[in-house]
Amino acid sequence: MPDMVRRCGWCEAVNTTEGPSCVKCGGPLPIPPGHDPGEPPPDPPRPLPGRYWRHKLFFGNFAVWFGGIWAAIGGLLAVVFLVLTVVLPPLFFGACFGSLFFIVGVVVAGVGIRNALRRMSALRRGVAAPGEIVRVSENSMDTANGQHPWLIEYTFDLGGSLHGGSISSWDPVNAHREPGQKVTIVYLPDDPDVSEIWPPVK
Ligand SMILES: [Zn+2]
Repeated sequence: MPDMVRRCGWCEAVNTTEGPSCVKCGGPLPIPPGHDPGEPPPDPPRPLPGRYWRHKLFFGNFAVWFGGIWAAIGGLLAVVFLVLTVVLPPLFFGACFGSLFFIVGVVVAGVGIRNALRRMSALRRGVAAPGEIVRVSENSMDTANGQHPWLIEYTFDLGGSLHGGSISSWDPVNAHREPGQKVTIVYLPDDPDVSEIWPPVK
């Protein structure tokens, strides 16, 4: 059954079995398209695999790469220009320019880390609520090898006030997800706009 091929949201291993857990890391797998939510999440705090932390915070965090490269180039320029001011004082402006790049890069990377921490916090200590997928579309903002990831948008109702979120996923199984599929959402009680689907979809 092709729609049972799922990528683990924790370790990204491709699972072809129908079981609820990843064959590689043991974490709960995303609910397949067309299925009701499975087991409710365990009580918080839930342990998250270390690899997942590192991936979300650094290796798989676009803002950290982007900001980090910007900060590195800006920092290097600032130092080079600062040294050159010894022979040509007006180059001090170049050093200022490099410093500005450095600062912007650090801020971008910092915001990326903060956002990743908040979403991981939703998985780790978030409150569970019933939710629903409202839209699945190709995310044309992002392209790799001529393909777009899937953008899954969901909503959940908290005592009459509707909240929502979205996740971007490269797993082609998401093409089979339909609006209306019930999912479990975990959200931060102090900021319900920070949420994730449980188990996470990669
Ligand atoms: Zn896994």
